Order: sequence, then C-alpha cells, then structure tokens
Amino acid sequence: MNTTKSYIAKKVEEIKPSGIRKFFDLASGMEGVISLGVGEPDFVTSWSAREAAILSLEQGYTSYTANAGLLELRVEIAHYMKTRFAVQYAPKSEIIVTVGASQAIDIALRAILDPGDEVIVLEPSFVSYIPLVELAGGSAVAVQTLKENDFKVLPSQLEEAITSKTKAIMICSPNNPTGSTLSKEELKGIAAIAKEHDLLVLSDEIYAELCYDDEYTSLGAIEDMRDRTILISGFSKGFAMTGWRLGFVCAEESLIQAMLKIHQYSLMCAPTMAQFAGLDSLRNGSNDVEEMKKSYHRRRNYIVESLNEMGLTCHIPGGAFYAFPSIASTGMSSEEFAEKLLIEEKVAVVPGNVFGISGEGHIRCSYATSLEQLQEAMKRIKNFISNHS
Ligand code: PMP
Repeated sequence: MNTTKSYIAKKVEEIKPSGIRKFFDLASGMEGVISLGVGEPDFVTSWSAREAAILSLEQGYTSYTANAGLLELRVEIAHYMKTRFAVQYAPKSEIIVTVGASQAIDIALRAILDPGDEVIVLEPSFVSYIPLVELAGGSAVAVQTLKENDFKVLPSQLEEAITSKTKAIMICSPNNPTGSTLSKEELKGIAAIAKEHDLLVLSDEIYAELCYDDEYTSLGAIEDMRDRTILISGFSKGFAMTGWRLGFVCAEESLIQAMLKIHQYSLMCAPTMAQFAGLDSLRNGSNDVEEMKKSYHRRRNYIVESLNEMGLTCHIPGGAFYAFPSIASTGMSSEEFAEKLLIEEKVAVVPGNVFGISGEGHIRCSYATSLEQLQEAMKRIKNFISNHS
C-alpha cells in the first residue's frame, strides 16, 4: 500500500497552512493572554435572532430548505441590499444563501474558473482568497497594495497585472487585514478597468455594515457594474453571527445558476435554523448593528491613537475591526514581533506577512475586544516597545 499521504491530491498538498493558526495554537497553551488576534465580533448574536432560531426548532422546521435558501430570507436579503446599499437583485434567481461568506467565495470561484484562469488578488489580503482560487483550479496573481497608498490598489497596478488569462479581480472593502475602504471614486476606477478588459469583479462586502467615516458604496451600485459583480456578503461580522455560518451571494442570474449547481450538490442548503436567525437579524437587527458599530468606532479611535503615540504608525482604518500598524521602527520582522510580544507580554496579534508580501513590517490588531482589554493590551505593547528600543 502507498503511504496514506501519497493519496492526497497535489493541489491540496501544495496549499500552505494558514499562518494565523500557528499563533492561535501557541496562544491557546498560555494563561492570561489578551488576544487581538481573532477576526470576529466580541458581541453575542442578538437575543431576538437566537429566539427566532429556537422558535423555528420548536415549530419543527428541521428539514432542508430550498437549495438557494428560504425564499422568505432571499426576499428579505433583496430588500436589505436595495434599501441599505442601493443594489437590486431578484430573490428567486439572483441570490443564494450560503454557509458563510466563505462558501460564497468558494462557489463563486469554482463556478467561473477553468484551469489556468487568473484572478487578481490584492495583498495584504484575507488569507482564504489565494488558497480558494488555487483549489478552484485557477492561478492567483498577487498585487501588492502599499502603506503609502493607504493599502488601496492603484489603477496602474491593476493594468500591469492584467493578462489575456485574467478572469476576475477580487476586492474587499472594508478590508481584512488593513481596514482600508474604497471610496465611490476608487470603485469607479476599478469598474472602468474591469469594463475595459471585460473582467468580473468579486466584491467581498462582508464588513459593509462596519464603515465609520463615509457612507458605504457597494460595487454593484456603480453604473454598469451589477452584471459584472459577484457580491459576497453575510451575517458573521455586521450581525455578530460567526458561529451560525450564514452568508449570501448576489449576482446576475446565469452566474448564480452556475454557483447553485455546485451548492446544491456539495451542500444542499445552509442550516435551516441559522436561516431563521438571519431572517430575524435583517428584520429586527438594525439597532443592534448601530450599537455595535458605535462601540467599534470608539475602540478604533482609541487603538489608532495609542499605536501612533507609541511609534507604531497606523493609517486610520475606515472600516472592519482591524488596525494594521507598521512595526518598522522596531527593526523586527512581523513574525519575530508577534512571537516575542506573545511570549514576553502575553498579547496575541497576527504578523502581517501571513496576509502577503506587502503585509511584512506590520501586525494586525483586532479591536473587537472590550475597551478594558484593549487598554491593558496597549499598556503591554508600550512596555514591549520600550524594552526593545
Ligand atoms: N471575507 C473576509 C474578508 C473575512 O474577514 C471573513 C471572516 N474572517 C470572511 C470573508 C468569511 O466570513 P464568514 O464567517 O461569513 O464565512
């Protein structure tokens, strides 16, 4: 018999393990660690949404829903996207309820990529994009966004990266890990390039509810972009529902129907009780979202000011719940900084290099943790810096 490892598909073997995991594993064996590492809200899902899920179970809704999700929920998603973000998608044919935004990204890529097709990924980027492009049989072309441009891609960088094999550009605003947001004008710039080269744009809008300074603009709302956009979103961040595994994807009908083929065979449907909770979040959750947003906003201001004061220069992240300060002044690599900070001061952050080449020289600090914990973490980081200067 071959060794069991030899059965593993080459493309899976070649996927690198997530650099974030290593730090979680290290931190989980230690006591008294303050974690600024995790990318999830510190709020519990609203009681109203939890009750809606409980009620659905009490009423016996324990079977599959339609493959694309409860129609009632798709109608509510369509209404929410139209009233909140000015994008219009038909509930019956242009929306799929997915198992988190993660699955939406996966089926979108699998539906559009043939072997060799290229997808432009803007680094620093969410860690799943490149592995998911590769698992879908495509090639990821990484473009490095830079601190001096607030980690926003320049049109010239996109133009340079486009080849005859490019099929799509992946964007994420507000961004994980940098918190950068793309303005309407910047989105129009990307849209013009997508139109000129006849490309799709996968727009990960999972943090759309968490935008602090400007009104959010969805890529689907930019003129002529609706049919070129695969709009990915979900309930994890804005509605504090990470564990429910609920997201959705909106796109023009033929794209959605292609994604639905994959979804129906690989997953059937998103969990039924989670769909009931999501329905309640959309109907009754807007006040909770506002409250959470205000709280993140206060914490963002605090953390950015503190980091800048101690010499870890940090652009102001317009959204999400991450600060991405430079650690260049310490002379350490991002891994060295994160590892020493964890061991010496018991603060967990994520080294920027796990998000791509241009993430080196930075760390990602999630501020989705209480202000008291943040204050203590900032004290410890300040101490760490002075011990190493
Ligand atoms: N996109 C981005 C940019 C994210 O940060 C995350 C979660 N960390 C996801 C997608 C996945 O979210 P979900 O929980 O909905 O799968």
